[in-house]
Amino acid sequence: MYQSILNEIYDSVQPLIGQGPVASYIPRLASVPADKFGMAVQTVEGSLYQIGDAEEAFSIQSISKIFVFALALKHAEDEIWRRVGREPSGRPFNSLVQLEYENGVPRNPFINSGAFVVTDIVMSFTRDAKRRLLELVRMLADNREIQYDYEVARSEAAHGHRNAALANFLKSYSNLRCEVESVLDTYFTHCSLAMSCVDLARASLFLANGGCVPWHDGAIIRPEQAKGVNALLMTCGTYDEAGDFAYRVGLPGKSGVGGGIVAIVPGHASVVVWSPGLTPGGNSLAGIRALELFTALTGLSLF
Ligand code: GLU
Repeated sequence: MYQSILNEIYDSVQPLIGQGPVASYIPRLASVPADKFGMAVQTVEGSLYQIGDAEEAFSIQSISKIFVFALALKHAEDEIWRRVGREPSGRPFNSLVQLEYENGVPRNPFINSGAFVVTDIVMSFTRDAKRRLLELVRMLADNREIQYDYEVARSEAAHGHRNAALANFLKSYSNLRCEVESVLDTYFTHCSLAMSCVDLARASLFLANGGCVPWHDGAIIRPEQAKGVNALLMTCGTYDEAGDFAYRVGLPGKSGVGGGIVAIVPGHASVVVWSPGLTPGGNSLAGIRALELFTALTGLSLF
């Protein structure tokens, strides 16, 4: 059933592919061809379906926040909730103003300031947070070839003035323990992970499957934590378009400015789409439409 639905979605979104600007504030991302489109579905029963450029690696950017957050949840959940909130921000992902009037406590773990605090927490319990994340996603995706794209990380670091401002702001409120430079370096590197739709569908399956993946013994996170991550993705995973995404797609989802979106159908599947052209809010334009069609055609939304 899923393959014919993916075929139908692929035909329907053709006019949208290439619409919307590609992210250019990270110069290295500006050169990605806008006419790409890939989609993959991984079911909890173990079947994989794909279409288009689903095996081509792209810059996952903010989607990495899911995996860094899972690491922190497993090892330091109480610490997270002492230092980060659980409410949607209603602001752009790299907004500074809210952080000031809320005294350096980020609204949620999926905006940049929240991700910096989560990264800082992971750095406090592991010697090499970059290696730790790479090992996790390789294991989750069952693909040892996954790599960081250090060119992308360097490109972002050279132009990441706003993120540097946010991190310094957090430090001034004593909500970062590590040095600002090393948190930013770790964060930019995490964001530079290059993965395909197929990799990401496999890697995010644990969120559809109560915190476990079938090909690994032991839970990544507990079932109630997986529930919590999905709830946060629903309310906070797609920047200040989370309400629109919930209305149109009806699933928890996390997007990145590289044009990828991960959506979770709890108990059933993970669904990943990639197309680099973005909406004004920074989400993949064709990707959102593809996911909207997916839930319309399968009936697999939460509502
Ligand atoms: N590395 C990007 C940034 O911090 C990630 C943004 C995103 O994908 O939302 O600006």
